[in-house]
Formats: sequence, structure tokens, C-alpha cells
Amino acid sequence: MADVRLKGVTKNFGALSVIKGVDLEVKDGEFCVFVGPSGCGKSTLLRAIAGLEEISSGALEIGGKDMTKIGPSERGVAMVFQSYALYPHMSVRDNIGFGLKMTGHSKELIAERTNVAAKLLQLDALMDRKPGQLSGGQRQRVAIGRAIVRKPDVFLFDEPLSNLDAALRVQMRTELSKLHQDLQATMIYVTHDQVEAMTMATKIVVLSAGKIEQVGSPLELYHRPNNLFVAGFIGSPK
Ligand code: ADP
Ligand code: MG
Repeated sequence: MADVRLKGVTKNFGALSVIKGVDLEVKDGEFCVFVGPSGCGKSTLLRAIAGLEEISSGALEIGGKDMTKIGPSERGVAMVFQSYALYPHMSVRDNIGFGLKMTGHSKELIAERTNVAAKLLQLDALMDRKPGQLSGGQRQRVAIGRAIVRKPDVFLFDEPLSNLDAALRVQMRTELSKLHQDLQATMIYVTHDQVEAMTMATKIVVLSAGKIEQVGSPLELYHRPNNLFVAGFIGSPK
């Protein structure tokens, strides 16, 4: 587990300023949701935390350590993407353990962590199947399993449920909340879906055009939105 701290973080792509001075503290064990309209910079900010995008200025700390010179694989983070490319020729078991195998972990450790993750995600009975024999929700669980076995301090999710149908999304929301409770890990979760934000977050960060409009608990944002943008986005009665 680890705190994530951003101070005056900016990100430019050439002349385009995408993140415009973000100050944020995500505390150990929080379920922090970045919410905001398409193109407002949610994914860019998440990728910056993951180390997949270099920040243009400002400071980023994870677990109290400056991340400037720390690569993505050394940050103690694991990211789950919207398009979760699983290896089609590999079993569920091998898909979940693949990252650990690549980083040279022992067979015993891989088997143990894979089994623990499979139990958490209720994949036990599906371990010998190939991705093509799974439903969308089951495939997404495998993608989450790949992150869990790495035992990250911080989980980063980029719209992980947006490819699922409505009923499955509702079910997976509950499962992710439970997973957060079980693992007690810090989670940062990007979505453009306000219902996801309201139901899963302990802290919501509302973004608009690369800036934070407001940070608060779901109830705080609902009852005391700072402005009409937040009110409109969260659906509060202001
Ligand atoms: P969101 O995830 O909120 O939809 P993004 O972070 O993906 O938004 O994108 C924010 C803005 O940054 C958009 O205008 C997008 O076109 C731009 N952008 C994202 N990645 C790049 C890139 N690699 N090069 C240039 N522009 C980019
Ligand atoms: Mg995005």
C-alpha cells in the first residue's frame, strides 16, 4: 500500500496542454475515482502515475518516493486497461501468471499467487480454459488477476468495465468494491461514468479540461458541488 502525491503536475503534448497543474493526494487504501468527460485528461493523468507518460513539470511521489527517475515496472503499480489483451493461446492460469514468469519468479510462487488471485476473482473453475472460452466479465477478471499477482501497492484502472454490458457492469462494480476491501490496496480508477464513481469511490476527483474541479467523497460532491459543472456531472440537484 502507498500514498500517491501529485504537486503542480502538468503534461503537454507539443503545444497542447493536457494536464494543467494538478495537486492531489490519494491516501493509502483509498478507492479514488477520476471522473470527467471524454478528453479531459483522465487517462493521461493515470498513465503519468503509472510511468507510461513523462510529466512535463511538477512532482509525483508514490509511497513517499520521488518518481522522476523510476520506471513503470519499479513503481509498485499495476495497471488494468479497458482493452485487456489476453494471450489467446494460453490458459487462464498461464495468462494470470505470465507477468511473474517473465520477471523470473519461481514456479511455486507463481502457482501460489495465481491460485490466491483465482479464488478472489472466482476463476478457480476456469483455470484451464482459453480466453476464447470466457465471457467478457470473466476475461476482465483475468486481466485484474494479472495485476493482483504482482502484489502492487497501487492499482490503476482505466475504464475497465466500459466494454461490458450494463448488467455485467453492475455486477463487476460490486466485485471491484469487494476486492478493494479484501486487498486493502490503494486504487485509482478512471471512468466517465458518474454512477461508477458514486457507487465505488471513497474519494472522487472531478476533472475538466486538464484541471481538478473538485475533490471529495461521493456525498460531499452530491450535496455540496462547487459549481454547475460538478453538479451537472455528479447529477446533484443544485
Ligand atoms: P480522457 O482519458 O479523459 O478521455 P485523455 O487523457 O485520453 O482523455 O486525453 C486528453 C487529451 O490529450 C485529448 O485531447 C487527447 O487527444 C490528448 N492526447 C492524449 N494522448 C496524446 C498523445 N499521445 N499525443 C497527443 N495528444 C494526446
Ligand atoms: Mg481515457
